[in-house]
Amino acid sequence: MNRTQDRFVPDNLVTGTHHLMKSLNRGVILGLLRRETSLSRIELSKLTGLDAKTITNLVREMLQEKIVVAAGYQKKKMGRNPKIINLNEDYGYSLGIDLGASHVRAGLVNFKAGLVFCREEFITRRDNRVSIVEKIVRGCRLILEEFPDKREKIRAVCLAAPGFLNREKGEIIRSVNLPGFTSVPIGKILRRELGLPFYLEESSRAMARAEGLFGAAKDHKSFILLDLGVGLGTGIVINRHLYRGVEEMAGEIGHIVVEVKGDRCHCGRRGCLETVASGAALARLGRIGRSESGIDARALALAARNGDTAAVGLFNRAGSFLGLGLANLINLFDIPVIIISGRLAEAGDLILDPMKRSLREHLLFLTDRKIRLVKGQLGEDSALLGAASLAWDELFTPSF
Ligand SMILES: [Zn+2]
Repeated sequence: MNRTQDRFVPDNLVTGTHHLMKSLNRGVILGLLRRETSLSRIELSKLTGLDAKTITNLVREMLQEKIVVAAGYQKKKMGRNPKIINLNEDYGYSLGIDLGASHVRAGLVNFKAGLVFCREEFITRRDNRVSIVEKIVRGCRLILEEFPDKREKIRAVCLAAPGFLNREKGEIIRSVNLPGFTSVPIGKILRRELGLPFYLEESSRAMARAEGLFGAAKDHKSFILLDLGVGLGTGIVINRHLYRGVEEMAGEIGHIVVEVKGDRCHCGRRGCLETVASGAALARLGRIGRSESGIDARALALAARNGDTAAVGLFNRAGSFLGLGLANLINLFDIPVIIISGRLAEAGDLILDPMKRSLREHLLFLTDRKIRLVKGQLGEDSALLGAASLAWDELFTPSF
């Protein structure tokens, strides 16, 4: 290389590149451990393509920093049993909160995505914007009081919230299923009240993160999480990245119009999928002609199982519209793995059977296609765990 070219090489390039490579390699190793739970150095070398010496050096450093721990030996039939390493669950913690239309669930989550402790408060009809925010703050405070010894290791408070968000500002722009939730500066409030960094993610996308990292979708690079709850949502993951859309409004399956002259939706239009197939819609339709006032989708499912034909009819109708919406989504994106999650999914075959029938009816070229409908593995914890994982994004390989 001659001197002229030399001048264009900044002094710090070599060191900068070295540090960058090292931190990328560490991220890759941590990312693998997050997905696979425990691995030997040989496995890490195979999976990353890094040579044994590099892996040994990186692992030694991470052991010293207590990010990873030695976790015994792998049992092999022949030869030496290799040592395995694991993420150190006590390396750090995050406070995860799942804010839903019916609940505030707050939990302490360790570095290995284990839920150490969790508490839930219900949201009732008497609640408003102020009282719901109070429930969120109270949930976090009680956890901090419960675990004073972990206080120093709690790195962030992370919220999964439904609706339209400004993640950078930490603001809930509009959440139609929560009373008065327009322009709520929740990040500012929680940072002030708890003195912790704050991260925000939309609920269905948080669920998709969790199922993709630790749950039913961890072996799939691309999948759609269908969140069946009081409202409907999706988390669309393409090559391990959440697809958000230009204004973060992608995947609004609840507002696909399925009945042009249908009921008025809370979004202001008519006949959205959410007016016929969400938990809220089932509760509303289920109350018609009944004396009980407090009926919700769960009570309606119980009635259906006890032979109430009107209730069965409502689930059939809801499932059939859901199948139509889902078929449209699969036809658009060509993503054949669907993870079913959310509290309405607990109605099981009552809603899933008519959904599958309708899906088959509306899907393009069905005979050649393998569609996999898989139940989420993380149940009620998925949004909370997905939110909590945001605290560690800087450490791990960029994904989502
Ligand atoms: Zn709508």
